[in-house]
Amino acid sequence: MDIRFRSTRSELEVTASQAILQGLGKDGGLFVPTAIPKLTESFEALAQMNYRELAYAVMSKFLTDFTGEELLACIEGAYDSKFDSPLIAPLVKADGAYYLELFHGSTIAFKDMALSILPYLMTTAAKKNGVDKKIVILTATSGDTGKAAMAGFADVPGTEIIVFYPKDGVSHIQERQMVTQRGENTHVVAIRGNFDDAQTAVKKMFNDPAMNAKIEAAGCQFSSANSINIGRLIPQVVYYVYSYAQLVKRGEIRAGDEINITVPTGNFGNILAAYYAKLMGLPVKKLICASNINKVLADFFETGEYDRRREFILTSSPSMDILISSNLERLIYRSTGNDPAACAAFMKNLSESGGYRITEEMKKTLGDFRGGFATEEENFAGIRALYERSGYVIDTHTGIANAVYRRYASETGDRTPTVIASTASPYKFANAVAGAIAPDKAEGKTDFELIDVLKELSGVAEPPAITDIRTAPVRHSTVCDVDEMPETVLRILGM
Ligand SMILES: *Cc1c(COP(=O)(O)O)cnc(C)c1O
Repeated sequence: MDIRFRSTRSELEVTASQAILQGLGKDGGLFVPTAIPKLTESFEALAQMNYRELAYAVMSKFLTDFTGEELLACIEGAYDSKFDSPLIAPLVKADGAYYLELFHGSTIAFKDMALSILPYLMTTAAKKNGVDKKIVILTATSGDTGKAAMAGFADVPGTEIIVFYPKDGVSHIQERQMVTQRGENTHVVAIRGNFDDAQTAVKKMFNDPAMNAKIEAAGCQFSSANSINIGRLIPQVVYYVYSYAQLVKRGEIRAGDEINITVPTGNFGNILAAYYAKLMGLPVKKLICASNINKVLADFFETGEYDRRREFILTSSPSMDILISSNLERLIYRSTGNDPAACAAFMKNLSESGGYRITEEMKKTLGDFRGGFATEEENFAGIRALYERSGYVIDTHTGIANAVYRRYASETGDRTPTVIASTASPYKFANAVAGAIAPDKAEGKTDFELIDVLKELSGVAEPPAITDIRTAPVRHSTVCDVDEMPETVLRILGM
């Protein structure tokens, strides 16, 4: 099947490599595959594959204009000893649920799963399309994408990467990881604003003709490392299929049995990848979309109304502090029956009046999803209960998924085996996690002392990503207002 990629907002259609290179459609839309390919292998066969083999089986079905050789080279470059587990994404059973640990890459959050391969996909795509311009990656981050993207693109020839993060909207450890980033082509800018401000401004720059003309004249072109880039989503489909294959292999389920998947959600990228896995033929019963108190998605799945007109609340799961979940646009597009004009109209309402309401007919297509949210207190109580019952320590984002799933299971009595996407190492949020599990031991301690507390509680070795920032010098200190972002980009690029 020759799969191509179409914008959610117009008839624009491109190849996989072009979609990855561009990041975002020129019409402001997001690229979606023209069809979702089916898994052709049996689950027994998938269960025998290692992560790289399975990545090839899944990704080759989407990236139809990459040769087998090209794709294999990308996969082998990405999923190697940068990951501290040969399984790449181990599945850990604790207190009756399966935690899919997606944080074994170099920056200890799930963003590594896709961002370790995106630079390879992008440079391959540039070569295939005869692009010799320098690729300038603009990235808004709620804390984890920025570091993972810089780690992936650092000193990659022909690229420059600029990351914007909300000054007061990330954890100390996330911030330290970013400002100590090495690499001549990496740039980090703190903005006075929140993640939505950063993401909106970045999207605007992508679609600003004057800005594009300026950077093109200087031999550059923009692309994105955010999950608006389809090159982020497709590698994320892999680990959901892999988790299922692991369950079959370990005899926890039989091939063909249904599972549920719970995902701590912000920009709706990770859970959309799980949905694509289902559409490929993975037997998934429910996709449980877990939000923190910024529960715009939980409300949407309940009422069919998306409404961002509410207070933006900073929480201890900062990578989910988002009110404009960009990837929902891809689901909206699908639920209109792939109607770009209808999708564009909803998105116009979102940007102009802050919300939209979908039709009853569209709502009926969303039955695979179930929304839910957890408060800070519920999150902390859940992290602590899990630790007390099993000794297993999870981070504050996984904690939201954990709390939402546990409530879902007790309310519905649904006993379907459930995979919970574990999106960050607890070390990345040592402060909140240690505070949740052992408040008496955590009180009055510095970040690095809390890391020591966590080490003692979890018995898990400190990851190199943490050891590194204990001593790494600060290399980035730029701060700007949201409306100064374009000029900051031009200045960084020397224009
Ligand atoms: C980015 C992130 C999320 C949210 O993922 P989305 O794809 O934006 O929904 C959840 N947890 C962590 C730790 C993250 O870094």
